Amino acid sequence: MSAESIRVPAILEKKRDGHALSKAEIDFLIAGYTRGDVPDYQMAAFAMAVYFRGMSDGETTDLTRAMLYSGEVLDLSELDGPKVDKHSTGGVGDKTSLILAPLVAACGAYVPMISGRALAHSGGTLDKLESIPGFRVGLSLDEFRATLRKHRVSFIGQTKEIAPADKKLYALRDVTATVPCLPLITASIMGKKLSEGIDALILDVKTGDGAFMQRYEDSIALAERMVAIGKGMGKRVAAVITDMNEPTGLMVGNSLEIEESIQALRGEGPKDLVDLSVELSAWMLVLTGLQPNLDAGRAKVREALSSGAGLEIFRRVIEAQGGDPRVCDDPSLLPHAAKRHEIRTETAGFLARCGCRAIGEASMLLGAGRDTVADAVDPGVGIVLAGKVGDGVERGGLLATLHYNDEARLARALARLTDAFAVSEMQPERPPLVLKVIE
Ligand code: URA
Repeated sequence: MSAESIRVPAILEKKRDGHALSKAEIDFLIAGYTRGDVPDYQMAAFAMAVYFRGMSDGETTDLTRAMLYSGEVLDLSELDGPKVDKHSTGGVGDKTSLILAPLVAACGAYVPMISGRALAHSGGTLDKLESIPGFRVGLSLDEFRATLRKHRVSFIGQTKEIAPADKKLYALRDVTATVPCLPLITASIMGKKLSEGIDALILDVKTGDGAFMQRYEDSIALAERMVAIGKGMGKRVAAVITDMNEPTGLMVGNSLEIEESIQALRGEGPKDLVDLSVELSAWMLVLTGLQPNLDAGRAKVREALSSGAGLEIFRRVIEAQGGDPRVCDDPSLLPHAAKRHEIRTETAGFLARCGCRAIGEASMLLGAGRDTVADAVDPGVGIVLAGKVGDGVERGGLLATLHYNDEARLARALARLTDAFAVSEMQPERPPLVLKVIE
């Protein structure tokens, strides 16, 4: 079919009825959407049709390539070391990017990180970084390159030049209930990451209650597709499947997660958060060839953590991107919500459930995410957990503190948290850090 004879309503009808789209149709749709010729309402209908009808592996690859080539593909060959990145499929309290990027940079790699905003119930690296007073994620490409050259890390979002189709479609999916969909997640993540000019990529594919892929087998399928596409484009890519049945770390919310990331870079973070950040960093060092194996990678990253080298790089990148680096020493400079509400338990025992999705959604209800594309996030709100699943709790003990600004929002968040926590007599087992590796 020639491009002149393709019509968007016919593409929508075809996908709605469960047929495979051709490469020409996918290219036409994505190019038209990027230019602004295809309106949001048609793209929302497309996303919903893909959500229900799915896509073949071939269509998913075509969609990924169309998203990737909607903008520029960076050439970073001028940099004198390997370029590597990490991306997570989305979780709650999942702030490892902020910790591992400076750590891996301190170990000798370059990390050109293009991230996203909050998506459905999961937080976004860009919204978190923007809670640092003055921090700019909207750098020009020249500024991005300069920051990367000087500090080995830079954090930006999708721009008009890089991954512009994902910039629009990501925001649209966030508010149209079309996030948890294998082909759309694959194209969104790989379309962004392959535009970064990287040599290697580690994917943290979440599974469980707080993940977009709640079923283990769906998470494996997502990981396999993304790894296959990345390898098909000549990159060294691996995926680790990790548990998302409780939030990562103890803090959920934009500035709260910056605070906890800084704690982690100081060597004072919660064990699960630090261990996962170290594990992903070690993978990055192995994939780039900077370290011969995961044990050596872990040891190198732990060194960068204990010496404070990672925190120092984070401080410099904050300054280079217009933010106030003093937040690394004084978290009171971050925005904070005005009020607190505590949730306590009636029973003593062990924390058996810390409902991940409920906590993510409650944080969004407090104002950490968006209901429409035009909404602004409230940087200071969120939830601070008192412990992890398996920890002992006393009768009347604290389970969580909600940081909020608005009473009506608090009431909605509390309603969402009704069954979020459970305490049992038996101590539940903790899942392993990494459930499976796909290479
Ligand atoms: N992260 C992304 O960048 N895109 C998705 O669709 C999900 C997680």
